Amino acid sequence: RLLQEMSDQTELSTRYEVDWDEGPLGVGAFGTVYWGVDKKTGEPVALKKIPKELTDEEAFLREMTALMHIQKAGGHPYICSLRDCYADGQHYYLIFDLVSGGEMFDHLVDQGSYSERDAARLVREVASALAFLHGLGTTHGDLKPENLMLSTKNPSDACIKLVDFGCALVEDEDNGKAVEEDENTVAAFTVAYCPPEILRAEDPTMSPAMDMWALGVILYIMLTGIHPFDLRGDSSDEEIEKTILSGKKPPLKNSSIAYHLSDSAIDIIEKLIEPDPSKRLTADEMLEHPWVIGTTASSDAMT
Ligand code: ADP
Ligand code: MG
Repeated sequence: RLLQEMSDQTELSTRYEVDWDEGPLGVGAFGTVYWGVDKKTGEPVALKKIPKELTDEEAFLREMTALMHIQKAGGHPYICSLRDCYADGQHYYLIFDLVSGGEMFDHLVDQGSYSERDAARLVREVASALAFLHGLGTTHGDLKPENLMLSTKNPSDACIKLVDFGCALVEDEDNGKAVEEDENTVAAFTVAYCPPEILRAEDPTMSPAMDMWALGVILYIMLTGIHPFDLRGDSSDEEIEKTILSGKKPPLKNSSIAYHLSDSAIDIIEKLIEPDPSKRLTADEMLEHPWVIGTTASSDAMT
């Protein structure tokens, strides 16, 4: 069964108990995520409720298609799995495993920045999720700290859970070509994590390289606490877009923001925040980079 159409919420509430009144677990541009329990198994779940007026059916089906695609391939330890989906007259409902550690975004805000050791471990997990996704012909398309969740509240044993496939693209299996974008999807891209080739294009084509750029931006923020294209932290989307398109490199060597970073960390950031998508590091290459291997190896040895 793909999507269960309901006349009201009865069928959903037969299987799941949802805490509609409790403050939501999270809110995104489209969905509000509530806490719930699978009555059959007793397992905690997260229910993402998307008002039909905020999305078109095509966009929702893309999110569902990407999630089903991941499921069919056996899922991935660092990607939050879909369990079920429903729709009624006004809403779509996606039921996921509950991820209880919160967004990496909030951890970053609390903590300011991460050590290279901690960052390398988390970033390796994201790269491993992306290597799996990209291998399936899927681009996430909206990688940012709000969509990277942590499995538990305790940072030392939390692992990454990638969420939000609302922008994801699954390559067309018949001809291997990317499905055409419509204007709505393009508008949904988050400028601050978008590579120049997407911002520049009139009719952008999503590709795995866009996820790698976004991961480079995330890594820069993790290590410095500062957005590489919004150094003051209050730039408008237009200003950020201009900076990215100007080809200006983020401050690294000899900058007061990044003076503490190792040469190897600087090297991997430069290879991810690389304006030419054909030269940008891929997820597989990233997993082989000395900073990822070396830094996580030394962290394993110390734990
Ligand atoms: P949108 O497409 O509207 O951005 P998301 O899928 O990103 O919606 O969900 C919005 C927020 O809900 C996320 O940023 C996160 O804080 C929270 N969230 C998403 N999935 C889960 C989950 N499985 N468990 C707990 N919280 C989640
Ligand atoms: Mg989101």
